[in-house]
Order: sequence, then C-alpha cells, then structure tokens
Amino acid sequence: MDTYDLRSCTEEDLRQVCQELGLKRFRALQLFQWVQQKAVRSWSEISNIGKEDRLALSSRLQLQPLERVKEQRSVDGTRKYLFRLADGELIECVLMDYAREQSRDRHTVCVSTQVGCAVGCAFCATGMEGLRRNLTAGEILGQVLDITRFIRQEDPDFQVTNVVFMGMGEPLLNYEQVLRAISLMNQERGLNIGMRRMTVSTSGVVPQIIQLARDNSQVGLAVSLHAADDETRNRLVPMNRRYPLAQLMEACREYTTITRRRITFEVALTADNANREQAEALVRLLKGQLGHVNLIPVNPVAGTGLERPDLEKLKRFAHSLEAGGISVSWREERGTDINAACGQLRRQWRVGNNESIGTI
Ligand code: SF4
Repeated sequence: MDTYDLRSCTEEDLRQVCQELGLKRFRALQLFQWVQQKAVRSWSEISNIGKEDRLALSSRLQLQPLERVKEQRSVDGTRKYLFRLADGELIECVLMDYAREQSRDRHTVCVSTQVGCAVGCAFCATGMEGLRRNLTAGEILGQVLDITRFIRQEDPDFQVTNVVFMGMGEPLLNYEQVLRAISLMNQERGLNIGMRRMTVSTSGVVPQIIQLARDNSQVGLAVSLHAADDETRNRLVPMNRRYPLAQLMEACREYTTITRRRITFEVALTADNANREQAEALVRLLKGQLGHVNLIPVNPVAGTGLERPDLEKLKRFAHSLEAGGISVSWREERGTDINAACGQLRRQWRVGNNESIGTI
C-alpha cells in the first residue's frame, strides 16, 4: 500500500487512509488537528489516539518534521531559521514580528518553496547555486508548523497570522505544491490563515500568473519587477529573457481584470538603479495598472557586487514615483544584522561546513 507525507495530507486524504485501515472516521479529524493546529513533531505526542491505531497510521503516513540546524535572532525581533529536510537538503525561513497597539500582533513567516532556484537573479544568494529540487506542500507548510511549535515553547498562544512565499525558490515554478500548501494553511480546522493574508511572489512566470488568477483569486500577488526596461531587467531578473516586460505587463493586466486585486510590484534599489531615469521609466510602465510599488534597498550579498543606495537617493526615487501618480511603500529593513536576505544563511553555513555548492 502507498505511503504519504502526513503534513501534505488534507482531512479528506486522512479519511481515505483511515477507511483503508479500517479505523473510525473521526480519527482523520483528530489527526489533522494534531498535525495542523498543535504542530506535533512526533507520533508519541498524539495522546488521544491509542497506540495500536497510531502504529497503523504511521505505517501509511510519514511525519517528517524539519530539523532546526541554526536559528539567528535579529535585534529587531526577526528570526531566521536554517532547516534540514529529510533528505539532508537545507532551506531557510524567516519569522518577522510586527507588534501593533490597536489590533492583534502580526506574525509573518517567509517560506521557501524550492531548494535553490533556477532563475538566478543578480542580487540573490539562492540563485547563485541553481535549482536542486522542489519542496513538497508538506515541506512548505512544515516551515510554518515548526516555527509555530518552537515559538510556542516561549509563548503558548503564538499563531502565525501571515505567510509570504518569498523565500528560496520561484513559487510559480512549483505551482501545484504551492497551491496545495496555501489551501492547507487556509483550512478552518487547521492553521486557518486567511487567503488574503498570504502573498505569492514571482519573478514573472507569465502563464502561471494568469493560472493563479483563475485558480485562486484571493491570495495576494507580488511581482519582482526591479527594472522598467528589458535590457536592465534581463540583467537583474533573467526570467525576463523568457517573458519580457510587454508580456509580463499584459499578464498583470489580465490578473487584475480577473481578480480585481492590486499587485505589489517589488523594486530592489541598488546604488546603480536608484536614479531618475529608472523612476520615470517605472511611472510610464505602471501608468493605469492596479497596483503599488514596494521599494527594497538591497541587502548587500557577497559576490554580487551590488551596493545599497544611500538614503537621499532612496527618498528622491520614491518622490519621483509619487509625483508620477504611483503609490509607493518602503519595505521595512528587517534582520539586516542576521543576513536575512534570501539564501545567505544557507550559503554561509555550507561554505563554513565544507559542503560543496554545486548546480544540478
Ligand atoms: S530572487 Fe527569488 S526568483 Fe530570483 S534567484 Fe532568488 S529565489 Fe530565485
């Protein structure tokens, strides 16, 4: 008989397994809640299912929690985790806490969706290593579950409120598993994270942008734009050579027509591109598009040669966009003291431990 990854299973999948094993139907819901709400890391913690039933279930369902290899805490409260998967691969995940006075606190987890990445953006440590493999839905969701479990040791009421798919990997190149993870995180009898509290970030995989609008119009979309002309964007985001700006903007228009939701356009600013010409080109490109621009001063990554622009340049850039009628926000700089930029921690750890860094 087939075995399954427990964390990738829906309640319906578990009902099917229970039926095949001749177990009571309500065991499926019990198990689902232990996995998704209580974030258990071993079968022995599941106290209201008898040993015999647990044994039968564990013969068909694999519970594979992530191993915490390293945790770094920033002075601003951001925590960065290096996790080891069951096959030994390493991924990164970040928790950002935003305390609010009036409403409940926001706890955002930035998850990885692939081990490594094939896109190779110029400013990204993950892209330097190429793609090793896709994550399963259970491994994507597992990052949220294991962080929840670790933080609950200090704060028993801790709940993740928001998830951004902006860690290692291009989420839309692992489309099926990402969509499954989103659906699992949204389950009322599970983590119950609202669709509108999840955001998928893409380097611009045009067919899947349109597919996402059709399959799930509630989840948020962020597009890593970074440049307003093909020549510059080809250099910064190589996905642009496959889907140039004209095709990308056409897909974005179709996305907003279907979903009626605004897109976040991410623009990483370096000392080189934070200039007036780029700002004016962005205004022309985004005129009439439902969305807003989020400016991100780049975290310096060794080996990329890119430098962070100074504050005056940033302000002038933001002002030029606003003057052109574009809504602008600044991404709060978080975790800069712990290398929170994607892929940095994994790369450093592997170099420090003499693991080879190769591309498959
Ligand atoms: S920024 Fe994202 S899409 Fe680009 S190389 Fe890094 S992980 Fe891949």
